[in-house]
Formats: sequence, structure tokens, C-alpha cells
Amino acid sequence: MQVEGVRLTPQRRRVLQLLAKNKQRHLTAEEIYSLACQQGKKIGLATVYRSLRALEKAGLVVSMDLGDGSSRYELKKVGHKPHHHLVCLECGQVLEVDEALLESLWQTITEKYGFATIDQSIKIFGYCAACWHKRRLTKEAVSV
Ligand SMILES: [Zn+2]
Ligand SMILES: [Zn+2]
Repeated sequence: MQVEGVRLTPQRRRVLQLLAKNKQRHLTAEEIYSLACQQGKKIGLATVYRSLRALEKAGLVVSMDLGDGSSRYELKKVGHKPHHHLVCLECGQVLEVDEALLESLWQTITEKYGFATIDQSIKIFGYCAACWHKRRLTKEAVSV
């Protein structure tokens, strides 16, 4: 199987499958590696790194830096649009924010600073709904 100049070896296909199954998390190479191990699939960490590089070069995956020291990867969807990430500091879940939500922000930046934004990627750190709820419960429990 040949996709846009990249040979889809069983290892690369596995990496793609794991990324597809864990869209919520935007996996690191280490996470892909340990998930593959959990499934009993033999794949070396170096192979995961190499596969990710090859897949990224072929335009099938996108890497991003969410500020936690390791690159995270997601599948590049057909018609992949720029989007922004909400990163939960508690559970590590990564939510995607639709670009359309922030369109007016780029416009405001252009108007206010005369700055034409070309490439934007915003990371917002905080707590997802479930973790925020849990934190509030603990806080309430403490203050009672
Ligand atoms: Zn969370
Ligand atoms: Zn994303």
C-alpha cells in the first residue's frame, strides 16, 4: 500500500491506527510505543520515532508542541484546518477549538496592531470539565 510517497509498513499502519483511536489525547511517541506494547504488538521506540517522522513528511500526521516537553502527534485529516488546543493540566486530555471561534481575534489583532497573522496555533492550559468539577468538589469538601 502506497500513500503519497510513503510506504505503509505494518509499523507505520499501527502508528496511524493508534493515533486514530486516541484522537482526544494527541499522543507522544512514548505513549504510542506503550499503547502498542499493551496490545502485544512488537514495535521499538526508535521505530515509532522513525515512523512518525516518515508519516509527518508524507503529510499524514501533524506534530505539535503543547508545552510539556515532548512533541505530540495527530492525524492530518482531509481538509485539515488550523485549530487550537485546550490542554487539561490534570488528565492531559487535549480538546480542539474550532478556528472559526477565533477568527474575530485575528481580525482584531490586524486592526489594533497592523499585524497580519499568517500562522497561528494557540495552546490554552487549564482543566477539562470533568477535572474542573472534581477540583471544585475537593475544594468544597476542604472548606466545609
Ligand atoms: Zn482533565
Ligand atoms: Zn489537534
